[in-house]
Amino acid sequence: MKTSKLGINTVCAHVGEVEDTQYKSAISPLFMATSYSYDGMDAKRYPRCFNSPNQEALAKKVAALEHCEAALIFGSGMAAISHALLGLVQKGDHIVFPETMYGGAYNFVVKEFPKYGIEFSFAKGFSEAHFSNEIKANTKLIYLETPSNPLMKITDLEMVAMLAKKHNCITMIDNTFATPINQNPADFGMDIIMHSATKYMGGHSDISAGTISGSKEYIDKILSTSVNLGGHLSDYTVWLLERSMKTLALRVKRQSKTAKKIARWLEQHDQVDKVYYPGLKSHPDYAIAKKQMRAYGGMLSFELKEGLDSIAFMRALHLIKYSMSLAGVESTILSPSETSHFLLTPEEREKQGIKDGLLRFSIGIEEKKDLIADLEQAFSTLK
Ligand code: PLP
Repeated sequence: MKTSKLGINTVCAHVGEVEDTQYKSAISPLFMATSYSYDGMDAKRYPRCFNSPNQEALAKKVAALEHCEAALIFGSGMAAISHALLGLVQKGDHIVFPETMYGGAYNFVVKEFPKYGIEFSFAKGFSEAHFSNEIKANTKLIYLETPSNPLMKITDLEMVAMLAKKHNCITMIDNTFATPINQNPADFGMDIIMHSATKYMGGHSDISAGTISGSKEYIDKILSTSVNLGGHLSDYTVWLLERSMKTLALRVKRQSKTAKKIARWLEQHDQVDKVYYPGLKSHPDYAIAKKQMRAYGGMLSFELKEGLDSIAFMRALHLIKYSMSLAGVESTILSPSETSHFLLTPEEREKQGIKDGLLRFSIGIEEKKDLIADLEQAFSTLK
């Protein structure tokens, strides 16, 4: 199938299916085997080699969605990040990370890299100068997260890709918040595109998974380390993830549309101090977001006015769940300092601009009017 000409919902529904040659079923059959004959076969198949039929098929869907040649499916977003980074760099290499990034990834870098002799530093902002100031003779990779978790900061993909090419560095981006529906970093020159598929790709708060996409050359390099680390995803969950991804574009387009409307509503609310959403004209990086994103995603963060108790506000919500993680069909809300960024010290959080009262809101597929009614009744309890 020529995937480049297909519309986005057709790619989600059909690319990367396992063909059922025996019974002609309409969906992919599930191959749970951990043992395959290698006699006269095109490959020596084994789940930890990332080449079981279901893994290979789903990787094709992910690669097509990210406009890349190849992809790999992992057991979590953190497995995708750790396998890719350990596959691409070695002792003595240096990586530039952004000023703010997902707390678990930050923790992985600061806790594990010193054990392997991998050097790293953090850009002090998001401009070209901030990234270029960190580049050293041994810099091998520049890592990005845009929009970033939880403050929705935007980095200019084209700018970083050009800077990296000039210095012969690989670029890697965590594209989880944007999703391939709203942003294709490969089109702007990014080399490696990562997702916590636990989020939008899974989309129903019931799958833990991760993906990496890129050129065949880079994916083969990451694969050769990944088979040693063993972070592949079980085939049953791969099969469930394929099912979830058939509705990825439907869900994300709906979530993005509702999020933009709710961001505008929150921005004018008299109990809200600040809203962080890249689709708002008031967002400092709106122009860059507009250049590289088709829509602005289903995630936003906000701070209540001074003196209002954000935890009491969350507890007062009925429909919107006070819950970990994000990107499900159900709306959820959390405090990053209690969850995603809990592993950071208060000083590290302050440096990243993450206030204790900040709330991160993941908009689901519910009706906008029902979400607003729930927010309104929770605000009324604070008066
Ligand atoms: N990247 C982002 C932006 C995330 O929000 C998360 C998890 O919350 C991860 C990576 C890690 O993914 P996982 O929890 O699937 O390991």
